[in-house]
Amino acid sequence: MLSTPHLLVGAAIVKVIPNPIIGLPLAFLSHFALDSIPHWDGSPKAPFSRKIFGGIFLDYAIGVSVVFVLTNSYENQYLLWLGAFLGTLPDFILGSYKHLENIFSRFAIVRIPNEFHLSIQRNLPLVNGLLTSGFISFIAVIILLYRS
Ligand SMILES: [Zn+2]
Repeated sequence: MLSTPHLLVGAAIVKVIPNPIIGLPLAFLSHFALDSIPHWDGSPKAPFSRKIFGGIFLDYAIGVSVVFVLTNSYENQYLLWLGAFLGTLPDFILGSYKHLENIFSRFAIVRIPNEFHLSIQRNLPLVNGLLTSGFISFIAVIILLYRS
């Protein structure tokens, strides 16, 4: 899944569960739940081209900007940002793994979680995949906008 929904859901989880001992690990684990929902992410193949890096950067910049704006007035904004980051961390790990697979694939402790991450991907064509990502992002935005 694209980074924007992962960032938004990670922040939304920490908003709903502000205890960092519970909320932050759940933000990290949410990544795998979201990746198992049918989505489109372009399925970038390593080695990554400049165009792919540009797309990844643009997606991440959009997600970070939206999270920044939506959490601007929260007292625990830094915790929400950390939740957002943890929601995307598995993709940084996977991207590093794909880029250096020749080295990392020798180590089961690195290979097995990344192969699991790859195995749960459910890719859809562009439009349908973006609709699911958009819907998930919309729910997360509503949660972040709601102030009791
Ligand atoms: Zn992922």
